[in-house]
Amino acid sequence: MNVLIVVAHPDDEVLGCGATGAALAAAGHSVRACFLSSHAEARGGRPVGDELASDMRSAQAQLGFGEPFLGEFPNIRMNTVPHIELVRFIETALEASGAQVVFTHHPADLNDDHVQTARACMAASRLFQRRNDIAPLRRLYFMEISSSTDWSFPAAGSQFAPDTFVATGNWLDRKLAALRAYRGVMRPYPHPRSEEAVRALAVQRGSQAGLAGAEAFQTAFAAAATAWELF
Ligand SMILES: [Zn+2]
Repeated sequence: MNVLIVVAHPDDEVLGCGATGAALAAAGHSVRACFLSSHAEARGGRPVGDELASDMRSAQAQLGFGEPFLGEFPNIRMNTVPHIELVRFIETALEASGAQVVFTHHPADLNDDHVQTARACMAASRLFQRRNDIAPLRRLYFMEISSSTDWSFPAAGSQFAPDTFVATGNWLDRKLAALRAYRGVMRPYPHPRSEEAVRALAVQRGSQAGLAGAEAFQTAFAAAATAWELF
């Protein structure tokens, strides 16, 4: 199975599905991140340039992810980029990765880059229905990003409503190690990007589904070529 994680910024892939992605990669699946703003300049107090690139590579290595797709769209200004350019970049990554499962942001996130990414990713995800040479999409999931999806306001539209829960098991430690690989991302408790809050969210999501710990997702699209594929 080929998995593509389409996110705005380096670290979103870890916060959203670090444990699930690491578990899939360890099981032999191809998992790659697609960063629309891989430089992510103008983030107060966080590394940029070569330092960020180095953090990003060590996080991908921690998780067992393959070579990432690196977009150069402007950080915190993705709304200034024509929608079609974001869509085309994601389409290129979908084609090159042969993605059958896609994870992306929730379209009612607080961070506007995340919103733009989700909208472009939804549009790009229909590529297989326009082109016969593209791998059929089987699943599209929205992720929750700590200190962003959870900080959205109800007035922004329908909120993240998880319907899919994946046990984290020991992969939660790997997720935290990958988060720590990104210098300047973790914050002291009670910030949502503290180790305590990341672990607490896993406990809360797990308890919603009878699991000791979980990452949660919202299904945007699911298609099965045969009935048994659903299971
Ligand atoms: Zn982000």
